Amino acid sequence: MSAPDGARLVLATHNPHKVVELREILADVVAERGLSIDLDRAVVGVDAFEGIEDVVENGATFAANALLKAHSVCTVTGLPALADDSGLAVDILGGSPGIFSARWSGRTDLDRQAKDRANVELLLAQLSDVLDEHRGAGFVCAAALVTPDGTELVEHGEVRGTLERSPRGQNGFGYDPILRVDETRTLAEYTNAEKHAISHRGKALRAIAPHVVDLLAKD
Ligand code: IMP
Repeated sequence: MSAPDGARLVLATHNPHKVVELREILADVVAERGLSIDLDRAVVGVDAFEGIEDVVENGATFAANALLKAHSVCTVTGLPALADDSGLAVDILGGSPGIFSARWSGRTDLDRQAKDRANVELLLAQLSDVLDEHRGAGFVCAAALVTPDGTELVEHGEVRGTLERSPRGQNGFGYDPILRVDETRTLAEYTNAEKHAISHRGKALRAIAPHVVDLLAKD
């Protein structure tokens, strides 16, 4: 499979916003080190290649799923690959929905937004009798970097909060409207920039970014 000119790292996602977010995080590390790297060329998403098939995410943990995606993309592109996997872990449910967050309601017939709403509704119903002091939860993210020589690296990030009893806020996606992360606001009441600064994904990506820049800085 031929790589776009100058591509050095593939992010295993179809979401262009995630590619931009990663470039921004890498740019901070590149600037700190006084390096000069053209991140727009060097860092691409899977859609820069033709016909990359999504891997079945059948791992038992966020890290396992992130590694599955990174290995698959690294193998087909021949380039280092970075993947992330994330979800909501609810304390009183022993960490569920966890890796099942995207499909917790079991509704496969719905579009992404309706599925998000069904997931939230089911979770709130399951927790309706749970007292405020037992409603702790967090978004968790694993970011995995895999290189063609088989080297693997995984970093985690988490943002903790309390589950509300009804959704609030218009931004974000998924379970954002029910996780309150400060005295008053849910993550759906944060701007994108505010969310990136504290989010599970932001933390995991910032932890792995120096290792990515090490790779990009190599000849
Ligand atoms: P993904 O790994 O980013 O695809 O996330 C899997 C699922 O976890 C999503 O479909 C959401 O239900 C949930 N999730 C992950 N990250 C977030 C977040 O930042 N806000 C809200 N929900 C999230």
